[in-house]
Formats: sequence, C-alpha cells, structure tokens
Amino acid sequence: AHMAARLTRGGHGRLVVDPFCGCGGNAIQQAVSDPTGAVLAIDVDPHKVAMARHNARLYGVQGRILFVVGDALSLLPRIRADAVVLSPPWGGIDYDDSGPFDLSRDMAPCCGFRIFEAACAAAHAVAYYLPKNTNRAQIAQLAARHASRACELQRVVRHTAASGSGRKPT
Ligand code: ADP
Repeated sequence: AHMAARLTRGGHGRLVVDPFCGCGGNAIQQAVSDPTGAVLAIDVDPHKVAMARHNARLYGVQGRILFVVGDALSLLPRIRADAVVLSPPWGGIDYDDSGPFDLSRDMAPCCGFRIFEAACAAAHAVAYYLPKNTNRAQIAQLAARHASRACELQRVVRHTAASGSGRKPT
C-alpha cells in the first residue's frame, strides 16, 4: 500500500503495470489502493496468471486488473502507463549467499539493467524491488541514467522474534 501511494503520489485513476506479477500480490494491492485505477498484470507463466486471477477475484478487484501471459521485456516497450512496479525474479533463494547481487548477472534469466530501462520507457514512475545485497554502485548507475527523475531509496526491514530479547531487525 505504501509503495502504491508513493508511486501514484496519492493520485487516483492511474494505470499501473506489474510485469512480473506472480500470484498477484502487488497488482492486487495496487488495485485495492486505487479504486478508480487499473492494473496491467503480466507473467510469463500461465499457471501464475491463473492463480493471480483467482486471488484478484477473492479481493473483488478482478474487474480492474487485465492479466496477460507474456514476456515482460517484449511487452514493456509497447506499453505507456503512469507507473511500473518491478518485482522480477532474483534467481532463487540463494540470492544473498555470495557477496553483492549483480544486476547484470544475477537476475537470471533477465538482465536487471534491461528490465529497468524497459520500465522507464513505459512510465515515468518506476518502483524496483531489489535484493538487500544489491551492488550499491549499480543502483547509483540506474539513478544516474535518469538524473531528471527523483530517486528514492527505501530499505525494507523485516522484524522477527528473537529469543529472550524481543524483536530485532534482520
Ligand atoms: P520469486 O518466486 O522469487 O518471486 P520467480 O523466479 O518465481 O521469483 O519470478 C517471479 C515471477 O516472474 C514468476 O511468477 C515468474 O513466472 C515471472 N517471470 C519470470 N520471467 C519472466 C518474464 N520474462 N516475463 C514475465 N514474467 C516473468
């Protein structure tokens, strides 16, 4: 909800694209947050799209999400929208096992730079969900390529129960 509001600056009636929608979490959140807006949700896996459609029905927002089975990188250049929410594959659960996450190498099978450029061509506002160990210099490069746009870096901190000492950030 926070990301949705930041992306559309609290505005309503926006078209937001989720090119790696998976089971629909971000797309549904966006549709719930902006009751007059629309979402274009894309995933290359038809089973994921079927699950996302089912989940959207549970939340009552299926009428405002258009689901498309397809490759995000092929479709993004043909889209113009108000915002894009990128939550691309991170290459599996071992993404933080071996040093900094490299945007050009580790976001297999896509390239993290190409994904970002395709999203920036489709919309002015782009949210990019990245691993916490992403190479900081590469994030700076992304921002520098689009210096006329404001760049906001947010860190998501997850709290877990720690034995005896309450909750601590991980
Ligand atoms: P995670 O499970 O860690 O979120 P996945 O590898 O499952 O990461 O990828 C996230 C989603 O992105 C999946 O639903 C997958 O089907 C989808 N996806 C992967 N490649 C593409 C692509 N080229 N275009 C669109 N969706 C894709």
